[in-house]
Amino acid sequence: MQKQQTNDISQWNNNNDDLQTITEQEVDEFKTSYVSFQQQQSKYKKQKSIKVNTTNCRGETRLIRKVIAKNNWKEVFNDGDVCWLGLPFKYQNLEEYFTQYVNRFAGMDLLAHKTQSSFYLNKFAEYFPEEYEFFPKTYIIPDDIDKFQQEYKSTRTYIAKPDAGSQGDGIYLIKKLKDIKTNESMVIQQYISKPLLIDKKKFDLRLYVLITSLDPYLCYINKEGLARFCTVDYEKPNDKNLRNPFMHLTNYSLNKRNTNFQVYNGKNILDINEGTKRTYSSIQKNLEILGYNNQDVENQIDSLVVAYLKSLLPFLAFNQKLVFQKRVAEVKCFQVLGFDILLDEKGKPWLLEVNSNPSLQIEHEVYGANGKSIFEESYIDSYVKELVMGDAIKLAMIPKETQEELPGFESYRKLEVDTAETVISKMMQIYGFLSGYKFQEYLTSSKFQKLSNFPSMTSQTFLKHDYDLLFRKILLKSCNNNQMDFFQFINAVEQLASRLNQDLEEMLDRIIQNI
Ligand code: ADP
Repeated sequence: MQKQQTNDISQWNNNNDDLQTITEQEVDEFKTSYVSFQQQQSKYKKQKSIKVNTTNCRGETRLIRKVIAKNNWKEVFNDGDVCWLGLPFKYQNLEEYFTQYVNRFAGMDLLAHKTQSSFYLNKFAEYFPEEYEFFPKTYIIPDDIDKFQQEYKSTRTYIAKPDAGSQGDGIYLIKKLKDIKTNESMVIQQYISKPLLIDKKKFDLRLYVLITSLDPYLCYINKEGLARFCTVDYEKPNDKNLRNPFMHLTNYSLNKRNTNFQVYNGKNILDINEGTKRTYSSIQKNLEILGYNNQDVENQIDSLVVAYLKSLLPFLAFNQKLVFQKRVAEVKCFQVLGFDILLDEKGKPWLLEVNSNPSLQIEHEVYGANGKSIFEESYIDSYVKELVMGDAIKLAMIPKETQEELPGFESYRKLEVDTAETVISKMMQIYGFLSGYKFQEYLTSSKFQKLSNFPSMTSQTFLKHDYDLLFRKILLKSCNNNQMDFFQFINAVEQLASRLNQDLEEMLDRIIQNI
């Protein structure tokens, strides 16, 4: 394999049908596992020519245009069947969400913040410890600094991630307490120090999960994905290698700067190869050779994703309701999320991060003979992302009732997510009631105090005016000290139950019965 292969691209470039032609055989191969429901799907495959509105596309324009061309759809710049948003959820022109399928749900912005999304996952891990074992122990700094200092073990390694960072920016590994920069908002996570290695290198997986409806909750995982490799052989963390990002961080944006970065741009992207970025299918072949049971790994990944989706539902449903109010059932939102998963040496998947805006770039930087960098199409990215996005659009447009009957569609496998109420969804319901389900409305102290009017919500030691004190105590560290957001509300009701000496769930149930 050449280090950076730039010549063999003629069959792939400039022709939107090329990917289909070249990988036909391989694609057929891994479609066989889906034979059982191929027949059911066939009537949806030949859908009418879809009109895709690309006016709001950003970096993904090239990919969306390829998907349009490959499927003989039509690109439009005004009303279409599908409106592709390159930017986060758009709170203007809400009418568009009723007339076109739009690739965003309100509320997904939660995932953009490492501290907020970690807080939320930590809560679920606290309430459902067995289901959330996949999430490395995470501390939110500065709030959890005391807890971290108490639980810190000098034999362990931790990874610090600033809240605002992405693509590996500002991330560092820690072994000694004194190395933590406590003055910034960040999360500190237990470092998974024994990752599964292929070719002696650490890698992580980017898998794609599609949500097409919240009620019923329809979720799918794509069978294909990407693996992103480090560019330096892995060693257990020690003082010497701790600062070597090419050994510990798998981010593509970072590793592409290393001279060891290997571009594989040949045709056999589904087979074992030596590229720094590979397909999940290719990795599965490595895993088989290494003696791992791929079905077992897949089942564990499914359980992880299902548990995550379960925790996401109350938050998404609440935000959709705030934005679309009474017409919430009529909107045609769908969204593809990117799950970053690390396998450890036992083959156990760990969730590192969920991205609401996974990269849809299909080009990579390569260096020509003159040493100058140029951008050319990456077959691996094109192949995976065309599959993921093309099938997502087709699937989102299948009526919900029909989707409920299907076990999956094309490259997507359906995931059954338990939608039973949880302690968090109950809290969300009460928070919604108190805030009046108004968009961008947080709780003021007087709204929070309404809780004291519910039966048994005061006691001899916790009187009505104590609500205001509790409210202020919770908001003390926040920059907005007049209003309480949902995350602070979770803390508040937990403290309320403890101060009233009541079982939290019983307390929540009683409030809901009296709403
Ligand atoms: P970013 O959004 O900046 O990419 P991530 O949370 O994805 O932040 O972390 C960047 C990289 O660091 C990951 O791709 C992974 O290689 C590594 N990493 C992150 N968290 C852990 C962890 N807990 N254990 C081991 N490696 C990790």
